[in-house]
Amino acid sequence: MADLNIPAAPAIEGAEHLHSGKVRDLYTLPSGELLMVASDRISAYDFVLDTTIPDKGEILTRMSLWWFDQLREIVDNHIVSTDVPDSVRGRAVVCERLEMFPVECVARGYLTGSGLREYDETGEVCGLALPAGLVDGSRLPGAIFTPATKAAVGDHDENVSFEAVVGEVGADVAERLRDLTLRVYTRAEELARERGIILADTKFEFGRRADGTTVLADEVLTPDSSRFWPAAEWTPGAPQPSFDKDVVRGWLTSPASGWDRTSGEAPPPLPVEVVERTRARYVEAYELLTGQTF
Ligand code: ATP
Ligand code: MG
Repeated sequence: MADLNIPAAPAIEGAEHLHSGKVRDLYTLPSGELLMVASDRISAYDFVLDTTIPDKGEILTRMSLWWFDQLREIVDNHIVSTDVPDSVRGRAVVCERLEMFPVECVARGYLTGSGLREYDETGEVCGLALPAGLVDGSRLPGAIFTPATKAAVGDHDENVSFEAVVGEVGADVAERLRDLTLRVYTRAEELARERGIILADTKFEFGRRADGTTVLADEVLTPDSSRFWPAAEWTPGAPQPSFDKDVVRGWLTSPASGWDRTSGEAPPPLPVEVVERTRARYVEAYELLTGQTF
C-alpha cells in the first residue's frame, strides 16, 4: 500500500473521527448519522499533495449536492442536511449511515484509463466485449457498467465482471446496482454534455437502508470520482485534457517542478500560480454545470 501522506483529521466537537480517505474525512455523530467533510486536499499521480486548493472542498460539496438534486427522480440519496459545525460549514454534509454494498459502481461512456488498458489486451472491459478499433477517448456505442472492488486506501481498485458482483451481493442486488448506475450516469452525462463537459466515466457507491431501500451515497459526479473533459477539446486517439488536474499534472511533469515521477518521492509543493489556475478550473466546472456563481 502506498504511503499517501494523508494529514490527521481535525478534531470536530461532538463528532468522532471514523476514517480518512485521500480527500475526505468521515466522522460519526451522536445521532448515529455520518458527517462527511470534503477537505481542500488534491491528489495527483497517487500522491496526496502537500499543497491544498482553496475552496476545493466547498466547491465539490456543492457540486455533489447539486447532482443529488438533479438525480432525485431516478434514485434516493443519503443526504440528511447541510447543517454542520461552523468549522466545516459549506464543505460538509450530514448523511444517513447505510450498509454499503462492497462494489465500486463504475459507468463508462468513453474508453480510457483502466478500461482502455483492458480493452487493448482483451477487446473486453469487465467481461463485456466492445467493437474493434476503439482508441483512447472513444465514445462507446452505449454506456457500460464496469464494476470494481474497493481497494484499501492507497491501492488501486480492481475491475471485476458482473458475475463477480453477483457472487458478492446476489443477482437481484447486482442487477439493481447495474440498472441504477447506468440510468444515473446516462442522465448525468447528458446534463453535462449540454453544458460543455464530457463526463467520460464515473464511480458511484450505493448503500442499503434498514428498510431495504437502495440509496445513492458517498459523493457523486465531482472530478474526484469522475473524469471531466472539456467537450470542445475532445479528440479521441490520445489522452484527453482533464478539466481539473491538467494544470497540476502539467506542472509536476515539467522541468520547472524538478520532480521525477519515477523516483517514488513525494511531489514538491505547488507554486501559487498553479494553485490559482487549478482553483479557477474547479470554479469553472461548478459554474458551467450548475449555472450558479460560486
Ligand atoms: P479514497 O480517498 O480513495 O476515496 P476511501 O474511499 O477510503 O478512499 P473516502 O472516500 O473518503 O475514502 O471514504 C468515505 C467512506 O465512506 C467510504 O468507505 C464510503 O464507502 C463510505 N460511505 C459513503 N457514504 C456512506 C454512507 N451513507 N454510509 C456509510 N458509509 C458511507
Ligand atoms: Mg472513496
